[in-house]
Amino acid sequence: MMTPAISPLPLGDSFGRPLRSLRLSVTDRCNLRCRYCMPEADYIWLPRESILTFEEIDRVAGIFAGVGVEKIRLTGGEPLLRQNLATLVGLLSRRGSFSDIALTTNGILLGRSAAALRAAGLLRVTVSLDTLHPDRMVAFARSARHAEVLEGIEAARGAGFRSVKVNSVIIRGYNEDEVLDLLEFGRERSIEIRFIEYMDVGGATAWSMEQVVPRREILDLVARRYGEVTPVSQGGSAPAERFALADGTVFGVIASTTAPFCRACDRSRLTADGTWLLCLYGERGLDLRELLRLGASDAEIAERISGLWRARSERGAEERAELGDRGVLHRIESLRADPRREMHTRGG
Ligand code: SAM
Repeated sequence: MMTPAISPLPLGDSFGRPLRSLRLSVTDRCNLRCRYCMPEADYIWLPRESILTFEEIDRVAGIFAGVGVEKIRLTGGEPLLRQNLATLVGLLSRRGSFSDIALTTNGILLGRSAAALRAAGLLRVTVSLDTLHPDRMVAFARSARHAEVLEGIEAARGAGFRSVKVNSVIIRGYNEDEVLDLLEFGRERSIEIRFIEYMDVGGATAWSMEQVVPRREILDLVARRYGEVTPVSQGGSAPAERFALADGTVFGVIASTTAPFCRACDRSRLTADGTWLLCLYGERGLDLRELLRLGASDAEIAERISGLWRARSERGAEERAELGDRGVLHRIESLRADPRREMHTRGG
C-alpha cells in the first residue's frame, strides 16, 4: 500500500505537540483481571468482525508514518492474545518507517513468543509486573500465572531486545510495601523499573485518591534506602521521569495522576476496532475502520488524521488533576454504554 505523498513533518496540534507516537491496541481481550483495570465480573467485547486485520493495521500504520509517526507501541488488552502477533510486527518492521516498535504485555505468554517477536523486528518490550508475590497476583489480578510472567521476563532478557522494562502500578494497601523489592528485582537484572501512579482511567471503577501512592512518596521511600536519587535529564515526551541511584541504577516514575505531562504528549491511540483517540482520557475519536472499509484512499485518511490532530487541544490528565473533588472518571454504566472508554480497549 502506498504511503500518502504528504510531508511527514511537522504536524503540530493546537499546543504545537507533534504527532509522533501511536499506540496500537490489537485486542480488547485480556487474560488478567487487574483490580485497577478490569475489576468487573463481565465485559462487553468488541465484535470480532470489527477488529482490524493485520493488513488494515499495517496500512493505517503506513498512513500515520506519512504524517510523522515514528514510534509504534503494540498494546491491548493483552496483545499476545492476538494470534501470530509476530506477523504484524514483521509487516510494521518491513516498512522501515519506525525508529521504535515496542510492546506492552503482562508477560504471561511472552516466554513462548519473545524470540519470534524479536526476529520479526520488535525492538523493545515492557512487561507489567505489580507484585513479586504470586498470592497477591491471585488476589489482585485473579491469576495464578505469576511464574509465567517471570519466565516471560527472562525470555525477553535473553532475546536481544534493545530494552526490557517493567511497569509496576503502585497502589496503597496492595503493593506500596514492594517498591524497594521491585527496584531490587530490576537492579539485579539490569531492567529499568517504572513505578506508575494509580490512574483514574476508564475501567478503574474502584479508583480513589487515597489509594494513589504519589511520585513524591515513591521517591522518598527510595531515597531513604539508597541515598540520593538524581533526576536523569531527558528531552522529549516519554511518560516516565527517570532517576538514578548512586550506583547508576536507573528507574522511572510515571506520575500521570499527581504530576501529569500533557504538554509534552505526542501520543495517540488506535483501538482494536480502528477508533483513533487523541487522548487517553478523551471522548473524541475518528472511526478509521469505516474509512478503510468504505474505500477511502490513503491520502483522504491522512487528511482526516492531519485535520483532527491540528485541532487537538486535549489535556485530559491535567484537567483531571485540576478538579478539586476527584472521583472515578467513568462508572460502570458509562463503560457499558461505550466500551471504547475502557483502558483495556483504548490501549494502555
Ligand atoms: N496487557 C498489557 C499489560 O498488562 O501491560 C497491556 C495493556 S495494559 C492496559 C497497559 C498498562 O496500563 C499496564 O502497565 C497496566 O498496569 C496499566 N494500567 C491499567 N490500568 C491502570 C490504572 N488504572 N492506573 C495505572 N496504570 C494502569
